[in-house]
Amino acid sequence: MDGTQVMAIKQQASIEKPTSYADGLPANDPHVAHEAERERLLREAQQARAEAELERQRFRRLFLQAPAPVVLLRGPQHVVELANPPALEIWGRSEDDVVGKPLLDALPEVRDQGIKELLDRVFTTGQAHFGTELKVQLDRRGDGTLEDVYFTFVYEPMRDELGTVEGVMVLAFIVTDQVLARHKAEAAESALHQQQEQLRIALAASGTGTFRWDPLTDAYLTFDANLKRLFGFSPEDPVQFTEDKLARVHPDDVEALRAAIQRRRQRADFEMDYRVILPDGSVRWLHDRGKMEHDAAGRPTYLVGACTDITQRKQSELAAHEAAEHLRFLAEMVPQKVFTATPTGEVDYFNPQWMSYTGLSFEQIRDWGWTQFIHPEDVAENVRVWRQSVATGEPFQFEHRFRRADGTYRWHLSRALPMKDEQGQVVKWFGANTDIDDQKRAVQQKDEFVSVAAHELRSPVTTLKGQIQLLRRRLRKRGETAVAAELTKLDIQLDRLTQRIGELLDMSRLQEGQLPLQFDSIDVDALLAEVVETVQATSPTHQIAIERATRQRIWGDRERIGQVITNLLTNAIKYSPEANRVVVHATANEREIALGVQDFGIGVALDEQRKIFERFYRVTDSALGTVTGWGLGLYISAEIVRRHGGRMNVESTPGAGATFWIHLPIESVETSHTPPPPTAA
Ligand code: ADP
Repeated sequence: MDGTQVMAIKQQASIEKPTSYADGLPANDPHVAHEAERERLLREAQQARAEAELERQRFRRLFLQAPAPVVLLRGPQHVVELANPPALEIWGRSEDDVVGKPLLDALPEVRDQGIKELLDRVFTTGQAHFGTELKVQLDRRGDGTLEDVYFTFVYEPMRDELGTVEGVMVLAFIVTDQVLARHKAEAAESALHQQQEQLRIALAASGTGTFRWDPLTDAYLTFDANLKRLFGFSPEDPVQFTEDKLARVHPDDVEALRAAIQRRRQRADFEMDYRVILPDGSVRWLHDRGKMEHDAAGRPTYLVGACTDITQRKQSELAAHEAAEHLRFLAEMVPQKVFTATPTGEVDYFNPQWMSYTGLSFEQIRDWGWTQFIHPEDVAENVRVWRQSVATGEPFQFEHRFRRADGTYRWHLSRALPMKDEQGQVVKWFGANTDIDDQKRAVQQKDEFVSVAAHELRSPVTTLKGQIQLLRRRLRKRGETAVAAELTKLDIQLDRLTQRIGELLDMSRLQEGQLPLQFDSIDVDALLAEVVETVQATSPTHQIAIERATRQRIWGDRERIGQVITNLLTNAIKYSPEANRVVVHATANEREIALGVQDFGIGVALDEQRKIFERFYRVTDSALGTVTGWGLGLYISAEIVRRHGGRMNVESTPGAGATFWIHLPIESVETSHTPPPPTAA
């Protein structure tokens, strides 16, 4: 139904006659006297009524056929007189449900929706009301659920011939779909607007400057305030063309930027880091990127771009680069071989020293390729120790031989440490390898010399000792006791010499792995008593007491175990010059025996307690300047005990004395303990 149709319906509705005034005549007309006249008038009235009825039927049909809802309401209660099918359809009611009922009884759900108030106003004022997109909630399915329906409508007063309002005609269009679609579009638009706003705020906060640039005219369509600030322009400075911007670019970057702009003119996207010089002379790094927009025909329209300040990032990149360069320089300058490896153990860097030493290329030795230059006797253990470090994250240390380019092998000491992150995960291994071949050879030569010297010294000293004893006996026979006593002093010094030479010999034998042990069953308590008696005989200053007993036998070399106990006893006496006693503790459990030699002397500081078992280690103590020794006794003792499957340790309170403990297994060492191989020095 278009506008003209609506108007036509409105005009016809206003001339329709109400039923209660159907005859159109007042009842008692004083001017009607004549009967015939009365008849005529009556006929005319009847005819007029019939015509009016016909007219009414026509309008009714017209309304009923109207494609949009039409409703006629009559009287102050807005009684539904007519509701066409579209109206009934939208209400979800039948004609019987509504016709003849006041509107609020026919559609109770609209009671509080302001409809009645509008109708009342039209009815009482006689003024039409136009409404657009009025939302009405209707119970269309009759199950109490309300459905939103939007109407654009007119409430038109219906008048009788005298102009009195007798009803309201409602003409409506249902615009629900359009309204909902518009609401959706509005919501989308507002979301978009909100997003743009957020983006704008974010860009402003991040200091990102943005621009739009026309590749045809080379003009900036926008060059925002942030961007001006980044280039050191003030907000009022006009920035119109590329050249305006280039004026601020660092001379070293201008050409590259010009070329990039030339490329972007040919519709390419654009991305570049360059420097600008600010009015105060300082330099700022910018990251500039742009994306070309195209029209439907694929022609470039304009380029949208964004610029950010990356000075700080560039500075730290430069610093990191510089630090890496320094490190590289260092790694390449040091005489040592250095390498780095991944957390899983693949070597990913060797400094050039490796390549010149091995004569192999980096590609040949990277990852696990290095195993090819390790001495065949060392490689299996080397790989095992390295894998273990990689698995546990423990520092790596190994001595092994590397094959030089000329085919000779040289000893190296290798160490690697893991660099870990905050979570304790290894991120990289750093290793250094030192050529220790010369030192190793020097030590070997020294050891060889010591061994030869000790052997060479032993026989003349033994001969000397024999001759002194012979001489002493002769002198005694001749009654020259004073001279004989002098010779005894000489003899004591010779004993010391013999002991030292013995230690040297033991040491070199241990070095060579050749300290032969004669295993036998030993009665521990008997051995202890015997050794104590011997040492006591030559040590009048101290009383040696044995506490408790082991009541055990062990399997071992009687002489060597005796040597160990002797060594502990002589040390106990030597290092407790102010004391007068030594206590030997003997105990056992089902697995091992323990012998403890306790003195009341100077004791051993905590940080020395491990070191004193090392070769040639002595505690330097000026108070004991006269005490002789060369730091071999404990080393040899510990090695002997170790080769019996046992261990040694010391407990001490410095100043109050020390107790040296020997632990030895009771079971047969022959069957359960193969003596371990000698340690590499
Ligand atoms: P040395 O020949 O010097 O005695 P050892 O190997 O027997 O060599 O002992 C190594 C070092 O251990 C000694 O120099 C001394 O400093 C320390 N030491 C050994 N026994 C004792 C002890 N009973 N009390 C204090 N210090 C001791």
